[in-house]
Amino acid sequence: MAKGFYNVPIAVNEPVKSYAPGTPEREEVLAEYKKMYNSQADIPLYIGSEEIRTGKKVAMTSPHDHKHVTGHYYEADAALVTKAIDNALEAREKWANISWQQRAAIFLKAADLLAGPYRARMNAATMLAQSKNVMQAEIDAACEMIDFFRFNAQYMQDIYCEQPESSPGVWNRLDYRPLEGFVYAISPFNFTSIAANLPGAPVMMGNVSIWKPSDHQVYSAQIIVEMFKEAGLPDGVINVVYGDPKMISDVILARKEFAGLHFTGSSDVFKTLWKQIGENIFNYNTYPKIVGETGGKDFIWVHNSSDAKQVATAITRGSFEYQGQKCSASSRAYIPQSMWADVKKYLIQDVKDIKVGSPEDPSNFVNAVIHEGSFDKITSYIDRAKTSNEAEIIAGGGYDKSVGYYIDPTVIVTTNAKYETMVDELFGPVMTIFVYEDDKWEESFKLVDESTQYALTGAIFSTDRYIVEIATKALENAAGNFYINDKPTGAVVGQQPFGGGRASGTNDKAGSPLNLTRWTSPRTMKETFVAAKDFRYPFLGE
Ligand code: NAD
Repeated sequence: MAKGFYNVPIAVNEPVKSYAPGTPEREEVLAEYKKMYNSQADIPLYIGSEEIRTGKKVAMTSPHDHKHVTGHYYEADAALVTKAIDNALEAREKWANISWQQRAAIFLKAADLLAGPYRARMNAATMLAQSKNVMQAEIDAACEMIDFFRFNAQYMQDIYCEQPESSPGVWNRLDYRPLEGFVYAISPFNFTSIAANLPGAPVMMGNVSIWKPSDHQVYSAQIIVEMFKEAGLPDGVINVVYGDPKMISDVILARKEFAGLHFTGSSDVFKTLWKQIGENIFNYNTYPKIVGETGGKDFIWVHNSSDAKQVATAITRGSFEYQGQKCSASSRAYIPQSMWADVKKYLIQDVKDIKVGSPEDPSNFVNAVIHEGSFDKITSYIDRAKTSNEAEIIAGGGYDKSVGYYIDPTVIVTTNAKYETMVDELFGPVMTIFVYEDDKWEESFKLVDESTQYALTGAIFSTDRYIVEIATKALENAAGNFYINDKPTGAVVGQQPFGGGRASGTNDKAGSPLNLTRWTSPRTMKETFVAAKDFRYPFLGE
């Protein structure tokens, strides 16, 4: 046990490497990519100390090269999911009781492994399997994941230091116990860092976890598992199962020891899970903690006091980086009539300059969308826009899935502020713009605020401080991450804690103490040094 109040190293954000031509990091990541492309990964389930390969073997392909198989993974059946839960519960006793400094050390070591020897592999896996260009991989799979580990260790310490006041003769304490059971972590395809953080954050706080990664992120999930093992995470603390999500959830949510859900993904899946938890509520030992960060329809609102070039750049970066497959990606914009000609000119030029292709060529800004289902969904919206009398495609609009699921960055202009692509989450490289009359700027806030069910990220552009103030108030509940004169993407751990409200999530702010606190069940302890010996209070005196 600790004999001292140890401080974890102060967290600082991991510097982003440039990957400019001729840099060693560029050579290393491209070599790693090639190696992975030319080999076959064989990815087991991780349950307790076992690596399990079942009869249900699934081939993995890259979104940008979907005929090329990069390896296989194996699906669990219900008996293996049960085994994963049993292993987690078996590991819980020791893990919940180890001193928190040991837990911090494991994650700090993982951060250093990722900053060093695992960096190229984690990035290359994310490029290959999730079709991210090297910079998008670097800011996610390397930097954000490192930041999650380092900042969470510091936040854990801060939380433990948060203690109640004591009065004379009394010592009050808060004991931040882990949850009494296990945490179910379900992760999306689009961020390798989120995948690691969903089981990682509860585990940092002393919980054990069953982790179900997305079928489209298994390749980099495997490297996360290897890294955690090398960092010293004991067997059974995180158990990894792949397979039919509904079956896995049915088995897990039926267990009385289910104590928490840490979910990131689409809103409907989260609502379905919440409903299922509600239906099982009488079966659980504790009320489960439910944390979900979900969909978005993120906006850029522009006032005519702003700069057209800045606005166009924010739209291009905010909407098309990682093919618009960030929950924070801008996909609707409101531009004043007087600025539209300039913004349009710059935007069309930007889109023309964007190269689309495989992440193996780092000059490609846009790569493929994640899978065929997504490709078909997004292109159906593009096709409808092509024939709609309320919409016009002014840039992009092309697509081709013969080799990879490629969709050109596309800009739609609509005359209907509630047109389907202004409202629905497409999760692809499509931006829709509504041009409003300059003097209706204040009325346009209602459109921004009320058009969608979501409230994740949003940006406003204006150089007029009165307008900034009014917009900030008018859009108070329209975004959990609100940007002034910047694109609405690129939140950094420790700087812009991330999460939204309404149908975008429970807003527990990933990578912040708010999130970590959810994975505790504090015990308040009051110790009285000299206990009373007479039940009579003074007021009872005659
Ligand atoms: P998704 O909802 O399709 O899948 C997310 C996870 O849920 C996957 O692991 C999937 O297998 C699992 N899943 C699907 N059906 C399930 C079921 N019935 N029971 C249990 N699990 C089930 O989402 P995706 O396509 O992987 O990711 C994109 C979505 O995630 C978008 O909506 C995006 O906005 C959202 N997202 C949100 C944030 C945020 O912080 N708010 C971050 C990243 C992604």
